[in-house]
Amino acid sequence: MNKIIIIGAGIIGMLSARLLAKAGAGVTIIEQGYAGQESSWAGGGIISPLYPWRYQDAVTHLAQWGQKHYPELLNDIHQSSGIDPEFIQSGLLYLDIEDELEQAQLWEKAHAYEFTTLSGCALKEVEPSLNFSAMASEQQAWFTPSIAQVRNPRLVRSLREDLRRLNVPIKQQTQALSFITQNGQLQGVVTDKGKFYADQVVLAGGAWSARLLEKYMQAPQIAPVKGQMIVFKAQPDVVSRIVLSKGRYVIPRKDGRVVIGSTLEFNDFDKTTTRDVLEELKQEAYRIIPALKNYPVEKQWAGLRPGSIDGIPYIGEHPELKNLFINAGHFRNGVVIGYASCQLLVDQLLGNTPIIDPRPYGLSDERLVNDCNDIDLRLAI
Ligand SMILES: Cc1cc2nc3c(=O)[nH]c(=O)nc-3n(C[C@H](O)[C@H](O)[C@H](O)COP(=O)(O)OP(=O)(O)OC[C@H]3O[C@@H](n4cnc5c(N)ncnc54)[C@H](O)[C@@H]3O)c2cc1C
Repeated sequence: MNKIIIIGAGIIGMLSARLLAKAGAGVTIIEQGYAGQESSWAGGGIISPLYPWRYQDAVTHLAQWGQKHYPELLNDIHQSSGIDPEFIQSGLLYLDIEDELEQAQLWEKAHAYEFTTLSGCALKEVEPSLNFSAMASEQQAWFTPSIAQVRNPRLVRSLREDLRRLNVPIKQQTQALSFITQNGQLQGVVTDKGKFYADQVVLAGGAWSARLLEKYMQAPQIAPVKGQMIVFKAQPDVVSRIVLSKGRYVIPRKDGRVVIGSTLEFNDFDKTTTRDVLEELKQEAYRIIPALKNYPVEKQWAGLRPGSIDGIPYIGEHPELKNLFINAGHFRNGVVIGYASCQLLVDQLLGNTPIIDPRPYGLSDERLVNDCNDIDLRLAI
């Protein structure tokens, strides 16, 4: 039985651990903070890339595999953990995409997506709470009814509980510092709480992944991109669809709370929230769903996305250290593309036929850097 250490207990580390444990591997997770409290807690949980036509096929292939297999996985985790990750097929309404409509329609045909044009009464029927008074009578919207969401804090709690039942230990408050090697062979991980030995190591450290590697070897081009969010304590049915307009989204949760996001900020590892963004997100919420003016903002928070060039994650073995595998850099789409990325990684670790062609995600020379200060994702967005 292979002994595997996973660095990082976000959705990527925990889902990888689940798949490996179910395949019979002996897995331990090392987490510098607490399980599922970083980006995977902070995210919106939309099971679709926003504006999916803007992405390369490498992202689309992972997203489509995930969209197909998520319902079964989430049902399974719900049953085994007793915690409902709140998978809801809310559908996604796009407003204000006239400028890229042709590209969106071509993409939708190529990928067999249901993408319905709505206006007037039909639009009102699908989402009565939109700001109709501010809309021109001919304004159109585009609707993909199959798009679903999951509630991040519950997803990570259910995954954590599921791992407990599968006897996968999570060593919290334990930071991976370096790798144990002998004659060029990986033997395990050095942490601030001692050494952990293993046959294989998976780095699923989210936004922190490149910082750990750059001290010892070439690193993937992954850097933190902050996203601030707010949540309204509203009531069920104030809004029922996920609505996306001008880069801002509204996500209605099962209990009536409504999440609004999100910013893209380049401030290194700073997670502070700001008053300006709170005000801006509130105004955007009122612009899209005026009824939200009647409800208080309950909370504001920020998370650090593991930003990468074009949003294509790094999945595979490091070329400089055999048996060190990476699964990181999922950027804005770690939920929707995360499941397929974990399956693809596990296929490689166990020598199984991969679910999709792994080459676009590999750690080729041109995707690696010697110095994290050379990573500039502003150019990639
Ligand atoms: C505001 C916001 C909105 C988002 N919305 C969506 C969305 O709607 N849909 C979607 O698909 N995606 C969304 N995302 C993106 C998604 O949340 C991320 O891509 C995903 O959570 C990344 O998961 P991860 O496990 O790689 O990272 P993380 O959840 O950050 O986990 C990495 C873990 O590794 C640990 N770690 C790092 N280094 C070490 C070390 N040296 N030793 C030990 N532990 C270490 C960290 O402490 C952390 O817990 C959003 C993200 C944000 C911030």
